[in-house]
Amino acid sequence: MSIQGAVRVNSIREEYEYLGKQRCACGGGWNRQSQALLFDESQVPHDKITVKCAECGKTADFYFDVSAFFGKPPVFE
Ligand SMILES: [Zn+2]
Repeated sequence: MSIQGAVRVNSIREEYEYLGKQRCACGGGWNRQSQALLFDESQVPHDKITVKCAECGKTADFYFDVSAFFGKPPVFE
């Protein structure tokens, strides 16, 4: 995935739910390795999450557009 194909989410929880539904080409699930905040050329905040396949060890990067909630205090309902 590239930053241009980032998935727009409304919370960190949505990022993790999205990742939980993705599978490696080998069919294995992804384990989160690291997370970084970066900004695209329009200064839109994105989370980059690097994952590693639990089965084959392949790594991949997923990008999420977090502009919907970036910089806002968490909402407790
Ligand atoms: Zn795999």
